[in-house]
Parts: sequence; structure tokens; C-alpha cells
Amino acid sequence: MIPFLSLREQYQSIKGEIDAAVGRVLASTSFVLGHEVEAFETEFAAYCGARHAVAVNSGTSALHLALLAAGIGPGDEVITTPMTFVATTAAILYSGATPIFVDIDPVTWNIDVDRIEAAITPRTRAILPVHLHGLMSDMDPITGLARRRGLIVIEDAAQAHGAEYRGRRAGSIGEIGCFSFYPGKNLGACGEAGALVTNDPEFARAARMLRDWGQASKYNHVVKGYNYRMDAIQAAVLRIKLEHLEAWTAARRAHAASYDSLLTKANAVQVPARDGVYRHVYHVYAVRLARRDAARRRLEAAGITCGMHYPVPVHLQAAYRDLGYGPGAFPVAESFARETLSLPMYPELTADQIAEVVSVVAEAPQEAAA
Ligand SMILES: *Cc1c(COP(=O)(O)O)cnc(C)c1O
Repeated sequence: MIPFLSLREQYQSIKGEIDAAVGRVLASTSFVLGHEVEAFETEFAAYCGARHAVAVNSGTSALHLALLAAGIGPGDEVITTPMTFVATTAAILYSGATPIFVDIDPVTWNIDVDRIEAAITPRTRAILPVHLHGLMSDMDPITGLARRRGLIVIEDAAQAHGAEYRGRRAGSIGEIGCFSFYPGKNLGACGEAGALVTNDPEFARAARMLRDWGQASKYNHVVKGYNYRMDAIQAAVLRIKLEHLEAWTAARRAHAASYDSLLTKANAVQVPARDGVYRHVYHVYAVRLARRDAARRRLEAAGITCGMHYPVPVHLQAAYRDLGYGPGAFPVAESFARETLSLPMYPELTADQIAEVVSVVAEAPQEAAA
């Protein structure tokens, strides 16, 4: 049996550190915000190469507050990709703005930067690229266009902790970068958590106020805010895990290199884009193959579980039909959705497990054709 993702080995490897950190918070009885959260903010901002981090209770909250801090609201349009988790779209709608989708690039599977300008209208306020699977979007054309047209760039870096573009970390290139620490993410809490990072002290100040009921000081509510505060236990866990993140990322990248070379030899599939400009952190190791469902069935029969990120693009999800897009609106994203398969990927995966996954993937097309 090879699971798509297992968190057990990671916990066992640092159990002493995690249990001690959680115990420290329990003993302190300081459970929300406070010292642990402030320390995590400082450490995570430094990790991202950004001046400020604001810790919140989920990646979705980080996206919502990023949009609000940037002053985006009803009547505004935000350009993003339909090949993402629904949270990206939902956060734009929470702010009152309208998501405008742009199709993806067939090689990187991220927003197609050559199609963004055509989607800009007088109402456009922001571009919200998603760094899908841990590969950053092509940021130079995005920030260049944003500067020329007076737009804000908000990065959805929920899958891209430590990813780089031309040596700069995810989250630090746009005006604001948003992260999720959902347990399965590359940096995962023991529960729900998220953060946004920014170099702009005004955005940081606004987000800090909005996450805690819009208070400028206790019981002085100057804007309508939210309860989006981070728990101290999550911050304490994240501080421990942040120290291990580079080693875990190195392991993911080594596994991806093995997958790449074995799969390329088997000539079975399209592997993730590789380019010296990017440091991919492989939150997800996705391949693209014509007979995806046959491959998936064969893997499952062999005891190997896989994922799909994502099998239905957001514009074709029932909940978002009212945005007015139908089938055929984004053909690249739609064909990717039919052909993408996410193979097992986590730092503790072994070379034998990777070889076994590849051997089953390589056999699948022949079986389907027979
Ligand atoms: C996980 C994820 C989110 C949402 O994060 P939560 O912490 O689950 O709210 C947003 N965008 C992307 C691309 C994600 O993968």
C-alpha cells in the first residue's frame, strides 16, 4: 500500500519537539494570538523574505483579508485562474468583488500570462495568480503588467511555501502573499491555520486589525472585522515545523527528480515543468496523461492512492455556475482537469515506493489500449 499522503511518519520523527511545544502552550494558558503567534510571524516573514507576516486561522481567511486590506470590494474585478482550489474564488466573492478567470498555460498549468491583459477592464483592481502544486506563476510579466495598469498583485501561495522565482520566495513578489497551513500543506499545522505576508506596513496593519474584529485597541472597533485569529498551539507547532521545512522540501524535490527521470524514460506522461527560473516545492507531483482514469484504476488496484488537483475547474463547479462561464470557456484548464493525476508525494516516501508507482503508471496505457 502506498498512500497519496501520510502525515504519520513526519509526526513520529519530531514527536518530542511537537509534544513539548504544545505542552508549553497548554501550561501558558495563552491560547489565542500572543507570544507564540508573534514569534511565528517574525520567523515566517523572514523565511519568505518579506517584512511582515500576519497569522490567521486559515489560508482562505488570509486571501479574504489580503483583498480587504488592499481595499478591494463590490464592483471590483479580480483576475485569477479557474485551475485552483475553490477557496481562491470563494475569497474573492467574500470580499464582494467578481472573479474573472483566465485560462492556464499548457506547460506550467498556472495562469497564462499572455492572456491576462485581454481580461483587464476599467473595473479590474487586482491579479491573483495561484502557484499551483508549488510551482510559482511567471511573476515578472504579471508584476510588469500590474505596474503598467495600476493593479495590485496578490499571490495565492497556499501550495508554495519556500517556492522561488528568480531567487525570490513565494509571497514576497506581489503586494501580498497568502499561505495555508492546512495539515496536508508543505508547512502544515495540527489543525487549521494560515498567514499573509507583505512588505507594506499599511497592508499588514489593516490585516492585523481585520483579523481581530477591526479593533484599533481593545473595544475600539474602527472597521467591521472578523474572528480570523491564529491559535497559539498552531503557531507553536508551525515554529517547530518551520525549522524542518527546508529538509522536507529537499526530500520532495529529490523524489520529484526521481519521478521525472523514471517517467521520462518510460515516456508515459507529461511531467511537471522544469526551468532554472523556478524552484518547485512539489506540494503536489502531478502528471498529465491521456488515459488518466485507466491509470488511476490500475494504481488503485495495486494499492496506490492518487489525487487530482483538480478534476473540475472552478468555473464548471455547480456552486459557481452563476459566474456565467460554461464548458469550453477555458479549454486548456478543462483538458488538464480531465488528464491530471497527482502521484504519492511526501518527504518520507522511499525510492522503492516511487519505482513501484512509476512501474504501474508506465503499464497503464498499454492495458487500456489492449
Ligand atoms: C489550501 C488552499 C487554499 C485554502 O487554504 P485553507 O487553509 O484550507 O483555507 C487556498 N488556495 C489554494 C490554492 C489552496 O491549495
